[in-house]
Amino acid sequence: VVRVAGLHKAFGEREVLTGIDLDVRQGEVVCVIGPSGSGKSTLLRCVNLLEQPTGGTVEVLGVDVTDPDVDIDQVRTHVGMVFQQFNLFANMTVLENCTVAQRQVLKRSRSEAERIARANLERVGLADRADAHPSQLSGGQQQRVAIARALSMDPQLMLFDEPTSALDPELVGDVLAVMRDLADAGMTMIVVTHEMAFARDVGDRVVFMDGGVIVEDGPADQVIGAPREARTRTFLQRVL
Ligand code: ATP
Ligand code: MG
Repeated sequence: VVRVAGLHKAFGEREVLTGIDLDVRQGEVVCVIGPSGSGKSTLLRCVNLLEQPTGGTVEVLGVDVTDPDVDIDQVRTHVGMVFQQFNLFANMTVLENCTVAQRQVLKRSRSEAERIARANLERVGLADRADAHPSQLSGGQQQRVAIARALSMDPQLMLFDEPTSALDPELVGDVLAVMRDLADAGMTMIVVTHEMAFARDVGDRVVFMDGGVIVEDGPADQVIGAPREARTRTFLQRVL
């Protein structure tokens, strides 16, 4: 589903990613961990071309997105992205947030889009808040709306960049539970997270990044429970 090979990314003179190789298969949940500034967000952003790679190739859903002729909007239609900041439209209701892209991009009718949005709001436990505005919801609820909005586009791949980092601790669990359900339902996911218990339990694989490279990539239990690399051990000792 995703095949990253020899990926480099520089901002000016500064090399932020220096040769990343990463394959993600259908239905796999890959959690990306690592210290601040190691390049986790940049990697995720290169996958849907929010950042333009400076070297290497990135293949998403069978399309080489580094090809200059690629229709990136077409690829992005199939890729859901959830950020630390929820980025909901403040002037729209929850339901409208979940229908606007369906109608504009997928050209679904209002009734069809609303039916799908309500089903996804139900899935994240917010069926009863469809008519609320984002400002009336807690951070955890807003993040679950952001997930429902992404799911309403029928994505084949979901990218999460620290979806719970901006939340009060008591709100984190509900969001992680939704992500766990999604993983159990077979969604292909790349999740940048500081939640080590989640990475270990829900991740099929864990990738540890440091200094713009992948230091370790393996089964979640092994990388978190019995890391092979000294740098991974040092990092885990600090965060666990
Ligand atoms: P965090 O855990 O803090 O989110 P991260 O692993 O996601 O960190 P990135 O956001 O990918 O790290 O950033 C990697 C490096 O690239 C950092 O040193 C950052 O300052 C730099 N960087 C990121 N975006 C840009 C940009 N648009 N212009 C210049 N430098 C950038
Ligand atoms: Mg980041």
